[in-house]
Amino acid sequence: MGNFKVGPNVYFGVGKLEKLREINCKKVFIVTDPFMVKSGAINQVTDHLDAAKINYKVFSDIVPDPPLEIVSKGIKAMDEFDPEAVITLGGGSAIDAAKAISYFRNMINKGLDSQKTDKKVLFIAIPTTSGTGSEVTSFSVITDKKFNVKYPLVDEAMVPDMAILDANLVKTAPNFITADTGMDVLTHAIEAYVSTESSDYSDALAEKAIKLVFGYLERAYKDGNDLEAREKMHNASCIAGMAFTNASLGINHSMAHIIGGRFHIPHGKANAILLPYVIEYNANLKEFNRNEYSDTAKKYAEIAKFLNLTSSNNAREGVKSLIRAICTLKRNLNIQSSLKEAKVERKDFESNLEDIVNIAINDGCTKTNPRYPNPTELKEVFKVVYEGK
Ligand code: NAD
Repeated sequence: MGNFKVGPNVYFGVGKLEKLREINCKKVFIVTDPFMVKSGAINQVTDHLDAAKINYKVFSDIVPDPPLEIVSKGIKAMDEFDPEAVITLGGGSAIDAAKAISYFRNMINKGLDSQKTDKKVLFIAIPTTSGTGSEVTSFSVITDKKFNVKYPLVDEAMVPDMAILDANLVKTAPNFITADTGMDVLTHAIEAYVSTESSDYSDALAEKAIKLVFGYLERAYKDGNDLEAREKMHNASCIAGMAFTNASLGINHSMAHIIGGRFHIPHGKANAILLPYVIEYNANLKEFNRNEYSDTAKKYAEIAKFLNLTSSNNAREGVKSLIRAICTLKRNLNIQSSLKEAKVERKDFESNLEDIVNIAINDGCTKTNPRYPNPTELKEVFKVVYEGK
């Protein structure tokens, strides 16, 4: 027995921001980051609101890996303005912060005045990176700076009502952000594909997203103005989001959350560093003999097959060819292959190791990983990720 949720209305393509003129609201609270204001990207949203005579207030305090303090500040600002809609423009950080602001403001008000919550606040997400898929997911990742921990919050109430994908907005993303965020897409899709909650529905989406990443990420990285590559990566990000909001993720994300929080590595880069090692751990090839492999190894091998990385039907060869292809892609995107290469200090890593193992095991994404790790195993994976191969 399964369950597959179909999410927000997704409008995609250049010019689709025009949909903002039709939202039928008088007051909009815009949540974004300072770059969107400084670069003028925000005008692409506000011009439409001006044309439709919609009043708006801009909250542009969002920083990468948004901390609890900024969410609190946003709740206050939103409450004072009391909007009918929230529009969030930015990468995963802006979208996640806006989700948390809207969600907790609603919860607080519900406690104080049940009538206030009867008025549904429309939520519109406009991503400017092709990475998190947050525009269609029930996830919001918020950082507690006191403990350097990132908390993935999950609630269906956080799924946006509308997502608008205009690849023109992504063109300003520098190549290293394109690389990191693009690898985030690949990690979402691969983790969804092997998750214990995967289904024919989520597999179809994950497969398409994986093919798009291998087809277009390098092009978008090499030429940020390649609009076709940008559009395909924007679609891949959203499609992978649809897959993982249903199938959930695995330990790659559990480990990336704490690595990102503790060592301040951007989320996509943390995922990219981990991915080959996590695939190797999950496939567990050493435990199996020549003709008998884990179901997870077979699923990784399916990926290698539909990417035409191998003609062999042997699962071991499939897993290995997938790992090789991911390592080649990472090299071509100039992404480091270990935490050591990413300049994490050895003493910093070693003094945090026990703690990060425990936090990763207890992360919400661990429970849908296809192989449930014990602390000793996870510690070994972290050590390999630190040293590299
Ligand atoms: P981000 O939002 O943190 O942005 C990274 C940097 O890129 C920022 O400085 C931002 O200003 C800049 N930027 C964004 N768009 C740009 C553009 N078009 N041009 C130039 N610069 C631009 O990056 P992200 O990778 O999109 O989001 C990462 C966050 O999302 C992390 O906190 C991660 O944990 C979270 N996340 C959430 C989900 C989810 O489903 N909610 C999934 C994965 C990750």
